[in-house]
Amino acid sequence: PIGGGPERPRVSVIGTGYLGATHAACMAELGFEVLGLDIDPAKIEALTRGELPFHEPGLPELLLKHVQSGRLRFTTSYEEVGAWADVHFIGVGTPQKPGETAADLRFVDAAVTSLAEHITQDALIVGKSTVPVGTAARLRDLLAETRATAGLDGTVELAWNPEFLREGYAVKDTLTPDRLVVGVESAHAEALLRQVYAKSLTEGTPWIATDFATAELVKVAANAFLATKISFINAFSEITETVGGDIGTLADAIGHDPRIGRRFLNAGAGFGGGCLPKDIRALQARVSELGLDRTMRFLAEMDDINLRRRDRVVDLAVQVLSHHRDGIARSAGDTASPVPSPATVEVLNGTKVALLGVTFKPHSDDVRDSPALDVANRLFTAGADVAVYDPQGNANAARRFPRLGYVDSLEKALVGADLIILLTEWDEFRQMDPEYVGRLVDQKLLIDGRNVLAPRPWQDAGFTHAALGHRFSP
Ligand code: NAD
Repeated sequence: PIGGGPERPRVSVIGTGYLGATHAACMAELGFEVLGLDIDPAKIEALTRGELPFHEPGLPELLLKHVQSGRLRFTTSYEEVGAWADVHFIGVGTPQKPGETAADLRFVDAAVTSLAEHITQDALIVGKSTVPVGTAARLRDLLAETRATAGLDGTVELAWNPEFLREGYAVKDTLTPDRLVVGVESAHAEALLRQVYAKSLTEGTPWIATDFATAELVKVAANAFLATKISFINAFSEITETVGGDIGTLADAIGHDPRIGRRFLNAGAGFGGGCLPKDIRALQARVSELGLDRTMRFLAEMDDINLRRRDRVVDLAVQVLSHHRDGIARSAGDTASPVPSPATVEVLNGTKVALLGVTFKPHSDDVRDSPALDVANRLFTAGADVAVYDPQGNANAARRFPRLGYVDSLEKALVGADLIILLTEWDEFRQMDPEYVGRLVDQKLLIDGRNVLAPRPWQDAGFTHAALGHRFSP
């Protein structure tokens, strides 16, 4: 039997970011002894104190509970982890390579190599990070070579178990996943993973045991599909913005068809975050490497549609402001360029913008590839006086763009504003009272970048209401 006994393998989690910290705390909640490892000592110190270094609903409580019970510990030592755990989950980052579209696999390679060099007993390494197809097979060989070279005892196997959690719902998604997918090369690996996920299995969670390639592809296929759904409705936004029509009604109507479904059809400023954008780019890069250049070409189009939403927000800001100023809704011209057009600067320079939301979605503090933060920075570059407020994201945003103006309350952002732009659909923004907001701002101009504010009450309160997916016809 493996180390901690057949009933209760000891679990390590390598990389304690959004995925890893959640997985570690949830494994402890499921009753396992867990050791989390990261190469970032500050992160490990915080986690050891029971403090979560990022925002994720429900996770602080779980972390504290299991740090206090002693079931969940953290370390920076591969030696400690290698001598202790039976199952090692890998949740390190696989970001976009700087200046390229491909995934940067340095961190997973380093994690596997470090584990291979330090494991001193029989063990299973389980990759959870999102990786290009073919990575697990390559890592299996790297693992075997490293072990042979080091002349270490014990049989160490590899499996791949992609993660589907959503930030904001990470605890729920980890404890009660929609499905479990494991890429395995032996009955032993599958049996061990069934032990780890026994609770979900008894609850009837679909269990898909397959080969490495399928397991890797399931994850990127799911993300490519979701990105396509969002860009699909946003492509129709470009039509309704031109000819008129209601994008929300359109989404509702097609969404009634169960083959289509309404979710992920919300027109708005588009997708972002640490997953969808880099995953669809990495997929294109990978299939090109495989000689299948045309296969995922449509994803380049989905990426373009998505990025054009940010241009549209800037253009709409110029239209709304120029219309307010002299009665003509002038377009900004080319808003895709990193250098703002003269028309954009002319209209935005000195304008006070209340920018509501910088995270890529609500219930998270993640600003990686955030449409909202990108727009905030573009408005700032064009000379706008941007007051950014996000219930959770200000600190991360300020680390990335320190020169933007940040305020610590919604009211402070609104006071004296010439234009409000809502870009992340936090409840705090959805619940704003138009009459009250109208008393705080200088000009009653509003752009709803997420289609979450009903136009009528805002118009009744005297606001010019513009929204993505809708023609601006003041
Ligand atoms: P993250 O950047 O929050 O966390 C990655 C962590 O790995 C960091 O704390 C980093 O210090 C650590 N790390 C890097 N190299 C290491 C090494 N050699 N040894 C130990 N630790 C190391 O990233 P994340 O959002 O948690 O994503 C991790 C992976 O999970 C990615 O492949 C991502 O695509 C995938 N994923 C993320 C989510 C999500 O919602 N965040 C969902 C599903 C899948």
